[in-house]
Amino acid sequence: MNYKKITQQDIDFLKNLLGIERVFTDSLINEDFSHDELTGEKHFPEVLVEVLTTDEVSEILKYASDNNIPVTPRGQGTGLVGSAVAICGGIMMCFTKMNKILELDENNLTLTVEPGVLLMDVISFLDGSGLFYSPEPGEKSATIGGNVNTNAGGMKAMKYGATRDNILGLEIVYPDGTIDSIGGKIVKTSSGYNLMHLIIGSEGTLVAVTKIILKLLPVPKYNISLLVPFPTLEKAIETVPVILRSKIIPTALEFMERDVILCTEEYLGKKLPHNTADAYLLLSFDGNTKNEIETAYEKAAQTCIDSGAIDALISNTPERNKSIWSARGTFLEAIKASTTELDECDVVVPRNRIADFVHFANSLQSKYDIRIKSFGHAGDGNLHIYLLKDHMDTTVWHRKIKAIFDELYEKSRSIGGHISGEHGIGYAKKEFLKNNIHPKNLEIFRGIKAVFDPKNILNPGKIV
Ligand SMILES: Cc1cc2nc3c(=O)[nH]c(=O)nc-3n(C[C@H](O)[C@H](O)[C@H](O)COP(=O)(O)OP(=O)(O)OC[C@H]3O[C@@H](n4cnc5c(N)ncnc54)[C@H](O)[C@@H]3O)c2cc1C
Repeated sequence: MNYKKITQQDIDFLKNLLGIERVFTDSLINEDFSHDELTGEKHFPEVLVEVLTTDEVSEILKYASDNNIPVTPRGQGTGLVGSAVAICGGIMMCFTKMNKILELDENNLTLTVEPGVLLMDVISFLDGSGLFYSPEPGEKSATIGGNVNTNAGGMKAMKYGATRDNILGLEIVYPDGTIDSIGGKIVKTSSGYNLMHLIIGSEGTLVAVTKIILKLLPVPKYNISLLVPFPTLEKAIETVPVILRSKIIPTALEFMERDVILCTEEYLGKKLPHNTADAYLLLSFDGNTKNEIETAYEKAAQTCIDSGAIDALISNTPERNKSIWSARGTFLEAIKASTTELDECDVVVPRNRIADFVHFANSLQSKYDIRIKSFGHAGDGNLHIYLLKDHMDTTVWHRKIKAIFDELYEKSRSIGGHISGEHGIGYAKKEFLKNNIHPKNLEIFRGIKAVFDPKNILNPGKIV
């Protein structure tokens, strides 16, 4: 990819458009903008700009397109696959200051926001309104624009779906600067190809997203969680299809091993309600009548006990629920703090193959002499498998992670899984995607990219 290098003339154009206080070059670009939260990939953009309006985004993209300059859209940089890293240099377009909550529409049950609004701000804005936005990815400081572009999933995806299922409309800017609106405050459409769903999860490679209409739901009146200790991981995970077969749909269904619990206790400096079992399932239920959720959790608790659980601990106060789920939300941070570096495999597999996959992943620990920790969304088959570098030599580490990822993705493909359940492909998983989808599929991906972005200026080098 041959792009024009940024010149003083380009900087002058950006400063004239945005003002000097929103254009950063050289040492004024904070180191944080050279990487994301996980990948070792480190590249500085040649210039970093903070955008505030759709017109600014449009002007910059038109200029970049006319001048063959790559542009990397950036939210909070909490991504885990290098998708918001400016691997080709050029302009990094940061959306975090384009962060107004524009409209709560209680007649249509929608909230319209700018892309830089943080998930935590949406949650606190809606607090007390009787409405909620259901996707709940672990990282609450991510932007909604980032969530849309990665199709972020969360712990409630099992019942309410991922980000994709909760977005109604987008305002977008194509790479040539054209502004468009797709979707809207409508609950269904059958009006040709659905560009909105193509753009959701496209990791900033097709368009810049400048406005988002979120779907809201009434807050369920009752909420209860169950922490279920099991003597072994096998027993815990093998219980998941049994729960599904019993026709109970929990709001969330997570699995975790004791190791991860201990890591989290050390990281948080506090004890969780139980830590002596080898493995756990964590379930939550919500509903509008007490009877409805009592029936569901009693049936789930009994199913777990019948399948070999040691106990089923009920958490029915907001404080206890919050403490358990916020501990669950820190697993990644806790594992990260326990090693020098880590890399992640975020596969999604059919739910009846989770146990199979986790056994396989664990078996690679001794084969490659490496620590592997896992936890995941058992309810939707999305597993987070972390390879830990510890004190390994860097060359050996790179060799091992490549070999282990090859084995993990091959295993996932063989059981009907996909490369990523929620963190995306970005730069880090690009080669693995290529090897795991049909060549025709890849050709179509490349064709789509070329139609949206014929000059390949928007987030080049990602996904395809
Ligand atoms: C501790 C931790 C927990 C996490 N938990 C979860 C989880 O539970 N579920 C989950 O799915 N992810 C999770 N993540 C990953 C991450 O938070 C998500 O991928 C999130 O959606 C990224 O949002 P961001 O604002 O940081 O975007 P960035 O990382 O800055 O960008 C992500 C992608 O979106 C593109 N982008 C951003 N804004 C725009 C825009 N306005 N227009 C076009 N493209 C844009 C970027 O180019 C990039 O490709 C976690 C990360 C951490 C560190």
